[in-house]
Amino acid sequence: SLEQGPEGPETPIQVVLRVRPMSAAELRRGEQSALHCSGTRTLQVSPPGGGPDVAFRFGAVLDGARTQEDVFRACGVRRLGELALRGFSCTVFTFGQTGSGKTYTLTGPPPQGEGVPVPPNLTGIIQRTFIWLLDRVQHLGAPVTLRASYLEIYNEQVRDLLSVGSPRPLPVRWNKTRGFYVEQLRVVEFGSLGALMDLLQMGLTRRRSSAHTLNQASSRSHALLTLYISRQTMPPGDPGEPPVAGKLCFVDLAGSEKVAATGSRGELMLEANSINRSLLALGHCISLLLDPQRKQSHIPFRDSKLTKLLADSLGGRGVTLMVACVSPSAQCLPETLSTLRYASRAQ
Ligand code: ADP
Ligand code: MG
Repeated sequence: SLEQGPEGPETPIQVVLRVRPMSAAELRRGEQSALHCSGTRTLQVSPPGGGPDVAFRFGAVLDGARTQEDVFRACGVRRLGELALRGFSCTVFTFGQTGSGKTYTLTGPPPQGEGVPVPPNLTGIIQRTFIWLLDRVQHLGAPVTLRASYLEIYNEQVRDLLSVGSPRPLPVRWNKTRGFYVEQLRVVEFGSLGALMDLLQMGLTRRRSSAHTLNQASSRSHALLTLYISRQTMPPGDPGEPPVAGKLCFVDLAGSEKVAATGSRGELMLEANSINRSLLALGHCISLLLDPQRKQSHIPFRDSKLTKLLADSLGGRGVTLMVACVSPSAQCLPETLSTLRYASRAQ
């Protein structure tokens, strides 16, 4: 039963590192791997010019041979799901440079054609969590209401990926009962796995066909898929007991590459700055949350849209899991090292 389920959250952020396999292009260019896993929790980085290896430790380290199912298990997403069923807000986010495997890890490879589903063995953490959750809810014996929303943050503007009609920017508001929320965001109730998969597909398609994606700027947006889980407590129908309301949020973050590397100017510079603003704000909030001396102090969630929307998960009522994604190639090492440092600091 849920009451005998896992303990509540003890560390605010858990970090898993995933090294993707060498891509065909990297192999064709004869690039060497600069990374190797030693054991299940340590990554060794060999600088290309020689010099001593640098080691990084994480909750789990997964190399390029690990399958999508391996990653789902190692991430302990079921445990986060159990917490969400008990009223916590949990978040899984992928972090890393563009091309490092963030989207693949959450949703699998891009479809091979219009309406072609992702093969079941390649689906990502999101589809696997859907399957687990629907099954779990069926066996729970208590009424559970499941709803979902899917949005994108681009240029510090929130866009509803499930909106009826063409989406326009939606404001983020705050009130005492709800905390931060997106006004007029479409939140869809679903009863079956099929309906939920359809919502995911709709959002992914929208994301791929949006104007900034066609302008090659998709790596600059954050995508947030949220499951709202509302469970009637026992005895069912007791009017005195409000339902237990938890959340499970999956965030495909914008590419973490440095703004300088894009050579952006003007309009592009504004984009790059606001991405940096969200990622920097996220890093800043996390470091304040981790510092025991400053835990009581003010955490600046208001500094970006992303941190506002993740505030309840980061700020105590939940668990956050970061999946840091990197390429093994020595060519990517400068960006890989910055991802590894960001991820190390977060745990
Ligand atoms: P990101 O979202 O970080 O920009 P993607 O998830 O789009 O990166 O991955 C870049 C490319 O590498 C895609 O073609 C993707 O299918 C492929 N890829 C990423 N991770 C893996 C993996 N673990 N195994 C096989 N292919 C992968
Ligand atoms: Mg992506």
